[in-house]
Amino acid sequence: MIKNSCFALSVGWLLLFLGQAGHSSVGEVPRARPAASGVVVESEAPNNLKVVLLGTGAGPLVNLQQFGASTLIEAGSIRLLFDCGRGATTRLTQVGVPVGSINRLFLTHLHSDHVIQIPDLLLTGWAGGGRQIPLNVWGPEGTQDMMDHLQQAFAFDIHVRRDVDEKLPAMGIKVLSHDITQGVVFEEQGVKVTAFLVDHGPVKPAFGYRVDFGGHSVVLSGDTRVSENLVQFAKGVDVLVHEVVDPQVVRARSPNAEAIIAHHTTPEQAGLVFARVKPRLAVYSHAANTENIMMQTRKTYAGPLQGAEDMLTIEIGEKIDVRHFRP
Ligand SMILES: [Zn+2]
Ligand SMILES: [Zn+2]
Repeated sequence: MIKNSCFALSVGWLLLFLGQAGHSSVGEVPRARPAASGVVVESEAPNNLKVVLLGTGAGPLVNLQQFGASTLIEAGSIRLLFDCGRGATTRLTQVGVPVGSINRLFLTHLHSDHVIQIPDLLLTGWAGGGRQIPLNVWGPEGTQDMMDHLQQAFAFDIHVRRDVDEKLPAMGIKVLSHDITQGVVFEEQGVKVTAFLVDHGPVKPAFGYRVDFGGHSVVLSGDTRVSENLVQFAKGVDVLVHEVVDPQVVRARSPNAEAIIAHHTTPEQAGLVFARVKPRLAVYSHAANTENIMMQTRKTYAGPLQGAEDMLTIEIGEKIDVRHFRP
């Protein structure tokens, strides 16, 4: 059942943060300049790839510690947003990225916890954020339909602001939708985004993404159980951001536990994936940040591992620098 595929987590499990320091790393690089506010810092290394985990929560439940699924990737002057779960626009603002500066959105799949903030990104990025060019959205089949229907749902506001009152630029509220299949879906200024199929049970198609830039790379798993295709596409990747589910927690809380667990990846399974891919750094997202998940992962994987944490910045260059958010 599709409605059961995303698991729900209790806020109570989300308080065990494993990395408390402001600045830990897997081999640190000198920071170009201090982060006066937020975490997105201009780098002196122009080929670095920067990943910001905006929201690392899992499932539809409201969660105040870990917002809905959303990841920002910055490559050169290009900003890419992957998924737009609850709070994505708030998190962008917290890390100092103007909402109106986002005009490229990639969706892993159409579960509500990955798309529910899109109306805010679309409308606020235009009406409050000054976006004057269309929002490009890439996603699985159904993406174009969803985006077309959002235009209908908000037709009144769009009409008033564009045609009657503020006379906001019409191009800024346009959407260019792309229903994608596996392969390279975006290539511009040396930034390449490749979509690959993952296995999210009955949610088909569901995609993961690989971003390559300047000789560096990151893979986002999206929602998936163990996916051989992901292992293939993740070969040689610097950072692998993977989802995980804690079966004990799900079994304690959900009557549909086995279906939910079957559509996601357990920590032991994720560890095996990490052990095969051998990224320079493995990172969890779409996951509770608990000691239990980390300990279970250690049964099968001994390499560098970072727990799920909102507004964590990972800068991938000659070294990999991990920065925790400090308001
Ligand atoms: Zn899902
Ligand atoms: Zn999900």
